[in-house]
Amino acid sequence: MLSITQLSKYYGKNHVLKDVNLSLNKGEVLCIIGPSGSGKSTFLRCINLLEQPTSGAISYRGKNILDKSLNVSSYRQHVGMVFQGYYLFPFKNVINNITMAPMTLLKENREDAEKEASQLLEKVGMAEKKLVYPASLSGGQKQRVAIARALAMHPDLLLFDEPTSALDPELVGEVLKVMKKLADEGMTMIVVTHEMGFAKEVANRVIFMEGGYIVEEGSPKDIFQHPQNDRTKEFLARFI
Ligand code: ATP
Ligand code: MG
Repeated sequence: MLSITQLSKYYGKNHVLKDVNLSLNKGEVLCIIGPSGSGKSTFLRCINLLEQPTSGAISYRGKNILDKSLNVSSYRQHVGMVFQGYYLFPFKNVINNITMAPMTLLKENREDAEKEASQLLEKVGMAEKKLVYPASLSGGQKQRVAIARALAMHPDLLLFDEPTSALDPELVGEVLKVMKKLADEGMTMIVVTHEMGFAKEVANRVIFMEGGYIVEEGSPKDIFQHPQNDRTKEFLARFI
């Protein structure tokens, strides 16, 4: 469903993505691990067109998404993103956070949008907080609302950029549980994470990035039990 070839990204003279190649099938859960500054977020942002790659190709369901004539907002409706910092709208309550995009972009009527939002809140265990404002939620609750909000656009692909990194340790599990449930239901996901337990358990494939390159790629077993590259071994040693 997603095919990326020779992707390269410069910020000024800083070459942050170097010849990145990836192909992702529907239903796959891909985890990306790697040290700070290795280009993980930039890679996700290029996939979502929040950044324009310097060169290379990205095709999504056979369509070149770097084509100048592409309707970016319609493409983004298919590709949801969940960030470390949640980015909920502070002046909207939980349910209005979720219904806003479906109502404005998908032209859903309020009744339908609210009905679906309620179902999604149920799914992420937040049904009781419908009318509450983001400021009174914990980080884990905010992130679960952010996931429900992404799901409300019916994405085919969900990108997660360190969704649990800002959370207190005791709140990480509730978010990972929701993500695992989505994976079990067949959602196609790319997850940048430092949660190695999640990657081991949920990913079909793991990528180790460093210095703008995909240094190593394989099944969780390949990467965590039999890493081939010394850089991968060194990186993983920090998590033991
Ligand atoms: P982290 O684990 O800390 O989130 P990362 O792997 O996500 O790191 P990126 O955020 O993709 O790394 O950054 C890769 C490189 O690109 C870094 O050198 C960073 O300073 C640089 N960079 C990222 N965003 C920008 C930007 N908007 N403008 C200029 N340079 C940037
Ligand atoms: Mg990052």
